[in-house]
Amino acid sequence: MRIVLLGAPGSGKGTQAQRLAERTGIPQISTGDLLRAAVARGTELGIKAKAAMDEGRLVDDALVLGMIRERLAEPDTRAGFILDGFPRNLVQAAALDGLLAELKQPLDAVVQFEVDRAELVKRISGRRTCADCACVFNVLTSPPTGAAAICPRTGAPHRLIQRADDNEATVAERLRVYEEKTRPLIAFYQSRGLLRAIDAEGQVDAVTERLGVALGLAPRPAAAARKGAAAKRPPRRKPARPARRRRPAARAEKRRPAPKKVPARAARKKRAGGPRTRKPPARRRARR
Ligand code: AMP
Repeated sequence: MRIVLLGAPGSGKGTQAQRLAERTGIPQISTGDLLRAAVARGTELGIKAKAAMDEGRLVDDALVLGMIRERLAEPDTRAGFILDGFPRNLVQAAALDGLLAELKQPLDAVVQFEVDRAELVKRISGRRTCADCACVFNVLTSPPTGAAAICPRTGAPHRLIQRADDNEATVAERLRVYEEKTRPLIAFYQSRGLLRAIDAEGQVDAVTERLGVALGLAPRPAAAARKGAAAKRPPRRKPARPARRRRPAARAEKRRPAPKKVPARAARKKRAGGPRTRKPPARRRARR
């Protein structure tokens, strides 16, 4: 499966890409994560990318394309990949087309995440990332609780940090850049018959379900699906209950041994109440 997740900053691409990668074993390739790692390591690429990232602008196409070309050459991408945050403009989309044609690995689908602007701002302001395992949470809508509060890397509670570019001023610029440069990709992929749009608002689990349906994945195991749907489903499914209860009762009826088990006294009473003219059983008559 070779897919692109397309959506504005804060639309949940990263969270869903992580989940999809866990579910399918296919690697998530986030250009934002790769660039942040380069910045943190202080590499040449990181130094060049940092200013644009801090201001909410796109990093130079040549830098990003070089990074993607290298990443797609790694062996774990042979089974497929989930591109998250790439391509971001028409130049990158055309370059990706060319690269994938070279590799004879065309895209299977592009999923567009639809989220209202006010919701995007709310999500970005609540977004936090674990400094150790890079899991993404939202302290407003999906804070880490219970077992999920423990970092799988350290075994201690997650160390949540806010991304440097998740501040109000930069967010406004990133949303503007999305509208101007990235939104045209919707028509680009629509014209190639690859685009599938999903409603990416609501519970994270519900979005995961919608993404699975859009990609034609087999339904998740019952427990996970139940957990995901619980928020949207009406509290009870009344019609199913009586049907399920009646069945065991009917089986018990069948199994019950017939008249012999009627208590002797009740049976005598029943016989006494019956017609007196009734003939005695054939066996008795024969003995007489
Ligand atoms: P993201 O984590 O996807 O929101 O990306 C964070 C920042 O990294 C963006 O605001 C850009 O500055 C930069 N970036 C990520 N992906 C790309 C890309 N495909 N092209 C250019 N810049 C990118």
